[in-house]
Amino acid sequence: MSPSALSRLRRPEYTGENRCWPCTVLNVALVALGSAAVGLLSPVLGALSLLGGLVLVALRGYVVPSTPEFAPRVAAALPVDLGFHQHRTDGGRTSESLTGADEVDGETLVRRLAEAGLITADESGELFLAAETRRTWEAGMRRLRDVSDDELAAATASAAPFPAEGRVEGDWVVVTRTGDADGTAIDGDEGDEVWLSRAHAVADTAAVAAMGDAVDAETAAQAAMPFRLFIETCPLCGGDTEETVVRECCGGTQGVYDNPETPVLACVACGEVLYEF
Ligand SMILES: [Zn+2]
Repeated sequence: MSPSALSRLRRPEYTGENRCWPCTVLNVALVALGSAAVGLLSPVLGALSLLGGLVLVALRGYVVPSTPEFAPRVAAALPVDLGFHQHRTDGGRTSESLTGADEVDGETLVRRLAEAGLITADESGELFLAAETRRTWEAGMRRLRDVSDDELAAATASAAPFPAEGRVEGDWVVVTRTGDADGTAIDGDEGDEVWLSRAHAVADTAAVAAMGDAVDAETAAQAAMPFRLFIETCPLCGGDTEETVVRECCGGTQGVYDNPETPVLACVACGEVLYEF
């Protein structure tokens, strides 16, 4: 086979560092089983199909059609956690946002932000951050990227539109509500915790600060989440971001993804997922 034929067969989206090892292992096992069955009829054909199958798995990541669709179900049915997580999307926990329970509708939010001059729209209605908003936001993210865990936790808690305390737990910044918006103290319990990925904590905290006094605290906190859509530099490492696809191959059913392919905004440099569309 010529090199160009090989490269036509190769699928970089499923091989190299994108290779999903559980899918690979599952496919090698299926190829071996299938070849063994063929080998019962003809040892030569069995050997050929084993070789061909292995070459295809090597080049293409998997050979059994739809492996990424069914492998998560196979993995989920197994009694042990095989660590089938290809991407940095944690063990099923989803990063939340700083707002309380009361949600404002998107239209009202956009109108408030536009009236405050924080975002602008072009003729087609597409929304942009105002240049000054982006500058302040990105400067804030650069600063928060380098602070200690305690400082980040405290800054994130103070960005919440209610009295709160913050702490860092591994890759997460946890904000616990300690009082109502009017200052009345409440007992913290599980339901009053907000878990943010470190990247989201940095982005949202800097976003709230960038909105400053232009809008009220509740509006700023609610806008922080949609602001993540506009992230152009990674809150964690400063790398560029791009719209791409997360292949939640074999970890799929443990997370929020029914579809193994989720379009996301992610950091090109460190792979951090910043927004799921
Ligand atoms: Zn990054």
